[in-house]
Amino acid sequence: MNTIDFDLTAGSTAALLQAAPNVSIRGEDRERASTDRSGYLPPSPPDGVVFARSADDVVQTLRLASRHRVPVVPRGAGTGLAAASASRAGEVVLDVSGMNEILRIDPVEQLAVVQPGVLNAELNAAAAGYGLFYAPDPASTAICSIGGNIATNAGGMRCAKYGVTRESVLSLRVILADGRELRTGRDTIKGVTGYDLNALFIGSEGTLGIVVEATLRLRPLPTATATVAAFFPDVESAARAASAVVAARVQPSMMELMDGPTLEAVDMALGTDYRSRGGAFLLVQTDGYGAFLEQEVVLEAVSPLGTCEKAVDDEHAAALVTARREAIPSLERLGRVSIGDIGVPRGRLAEVVAGLEQISADTGVRIFTIAHASDGNLHPMIVMDQEESVTEGPPKEALGRMFHLAKRLGGTLTGEHGVGLLKRDWLRDELGDVSLEVQHAIRQALDPLGILNPGKAI
Ligand SMILES: Cc1cc2nc3c(=O)[nH]c(=O)nc-3n(C[C@H](O)[C@H](O)[C@H](O)COP(=O)(O)OP(=O)(O)OC[C@H]3O[C@@H](n4cnc5c(N)ncnc54)[C@H](O)[C@@H]3O)c2cc1C
Repeated sequence: MNTIDFDLTAGSTAALLQAAPNVSIRGEDRERASTDRSGYLPPSPPDGVVFARSADDVVQTLRLASRHRVPVVPRGAGTGLAAASASRAGEVVLDVSGMNEILRIDPVEQLAVVQPGVLNAELNAAAAGYGLFYAPDPASTAICSIGGNIATNAGGMRCAKYGVTRESVLSLRVILADGRELRTGRDTIKGVTGYDLNALFIGSEGTLGIVVEATLRLRPLPTATATVAAFFPDVESAARAASAVVAARVQPSMMELMDGPTLEAVDMALGTDYRSRGGAFLLVQTDGYGAFLEQEVVLEAVSPLGTCEKAVDDEHAAALVTARREAIPSLERLGRVSIGDIGVPRGRLAEVVAGLEQISADTGVRIFTIAHASDGNLHPMIVMDQEESVTEGPPKEALGRMFHLAKRLGGTLTGEHGVGLLKRDWLRDELGDVSLEVQHAIRQALDPLGILNPGKAI
């Protein structure tokens, strides 16, 4: 395992918990803060939870943590899929979900200033009132926070066209481990003064500082959206169709793939009948002034491989998007779910899908697959019994083999969920010694005592 060994043995969580603002040591708060939605089983709950209400609360907590050498685990809405906000005994959780105000929306500059606990969907609902939207839209939009999105560089369904969180953050207000406040970025569209500290903090999984405010880029709502649902005999054909759309040089705003077993789980949860129409499904949306022209190109690319239908109205399109958004919750009804997050070059989707089927056959682990197909980002989902853990046995073997499959195809360990606790074993394989050394040095420079989210990410 790639770890940095911080000496936190002198830590006294009791001293911090006595002096910090809005502390809870209630069993249910500590239990809830001990894990996320990754399927990770924590060994023990944290010693306490600080529910920050303001940037001052964050400053005060981090100053105490530095003084008493207490490890602090930042937490947003706890919907992460890499156990990056998981915590254990000897740690204190700093929960910023209560800092949840939209401070300003500027329709002329097309930006929003928000606190970190604002939910992704809440920001979108507010922006819609101005004819604008915030582009990164994880399938968890209704339940995940902007701070968590920034700390994981979250992606989503619309990222196909509009990019991931990194492309929508203008500036950040961050509290460093020692309590100092840092401003990164700027509120203009362009600007290159100094190193790009936004990029450093985006995706840093709570290891470099706590985001207490963010200025985000909004975009005009598309004038029109066109939706195609395509059904295929098998998932390899769906993957080939997705690669054909990319090769046709159209730019879908969304291209989501689901395999047959996932369709079955969605049907069971929603009472729909998608599985009866094919063994795999591709949802392709195009948007903007050319939406329906682009749709014709999509149909031309996909039709040779599957049966296509155009959404008849907005309600029909929304139902198709809901089916995709409900994929993970539907599988969670079947058992404990651990979600892979590999990325591969977009022309190799069919190969990776075939490789996943082989891994499932070899390890005996049930793997369901969905993908943000236009980004080459797949979510192979391992469904286990409730008492099984992804950190051991066949599920862990399957996870490791998925990574090696992605690497062999020129891909990556994690497209959007982050490394957290669950993927550290394979980090060095992907990054190499020099990159890892540089990253450890950056972390050490910003958090010399090693109090921020120890044991996670790098
Ligand atoms: C049903 C479902 C669907 C999902 N779909 C997607 C998807 O399509 N795309 C995608 O990218 N993800 C998806 N996710 C994963 C998850 O929602 C995202 O990773 C999200 O960005 C996590 O946000 P959160 O507020 O829940 O963060 P948490 O889980 O609370 O924390 C995640 C990480 O961020 C850190 N953190 C949180 N807040 C702050 C802060 N203010 N400052 C510094 N660090 C902080 C934590 O320490 C941790 O490292 C999905 C999850 C679920 C359950």
